[in-house]
Amino acid sequence: MSTSNVDLKELAKFSELAHKWWDPQSEFRPLHQLNPLRLGWIEQIAGPLTGKKVLDVGCGGGILSESMARQGAEVLGIDLAQRSLRVAQLHAMEQQVGHLHYREIAVEALAAAEPGQYDIVTCMEMLEHVPDPASIVQACAALVKPGGHVFFSTIHRSPKAFWLAIVGAEYVLNMLPRGTHEYARFLRPSELATLCRDAGLDVEQLKGMRYNPFTQRFSLEMDVGVNYLLHSRRPVLNG
Ligand code: SAH
Repeated sequence: MSTSNVDLKELAKFSELAHKWWDPQSEFRPLHQLNPLRLGWIEQIAGPLTGKKVLDVGCGGGILSESMARQGAEVLGIDLAQRSLRVAQLHAMEQQVGHLHYREIAVEALAAAEPGQYDIVTCMEMLEHVPDPASIVQACAALVKPGGHVFFSTIHRSPKAFWLAIVGAEYVLNMLPRGTHEYARFLRPSELATLCRDAGLDVEQLKGMRYNPFTQRFSLEMDVGVNYLLHSRRPVLNG
């Protein structure tokens, strides 16, 4: 493997569940529910995806990658869990989604090979599973074209997030398997913003994602206290 920035226990968790990526009632249900919201938000900011070159980092089974390809983007999804990538590939073939490719490669290695190639880079629900998120943010910044967009999502390291995202989601509602998330790996929005700025990105916008256990739906909102999205941009005159 071409990077040391990976937690093999984390990859194993996702690999074990890989056959369930496209089962909307499985452990991946929250990602299926979130997907239309985050896709709409990306399009609202970056404009129509048709013809755009998009990289989806930590793509898993391809829930976001495939939806962006369906909107006309030319998408590369990368992950280090081989079983998830196989499932993603198979699903894309079955669904006959074109302009969609998957590769098992570390984002740092891809950044060294093809810097500045992508109009949009997305990295969703992945930073909280890696040992060194700064290195991932830097690689994403290197991969996007000047003027291009980088979108992240992760979970706030706040007491509220501990209660809702870990105790609530894993122990009370059983939405996620126990042990899915480790509190210490959550990132405060200010910390993620600093990682972006240190990587030369301009931070443009933060948005919260709230889960309502009664309606069982997610919505976008101002409060970034638990799950949140961050939009950043590489300045045009940044070399
Ligand atoms: N981004 C997808 C999947 C999120 S689940 C979505 O939001 O729908 C987190 C994913 O990160 C898993 O697929 C896991 O295999 C991947 N992952 C964890 N550590 C990684 C690493 N170091 N490099 C690439 N992918 C990683």
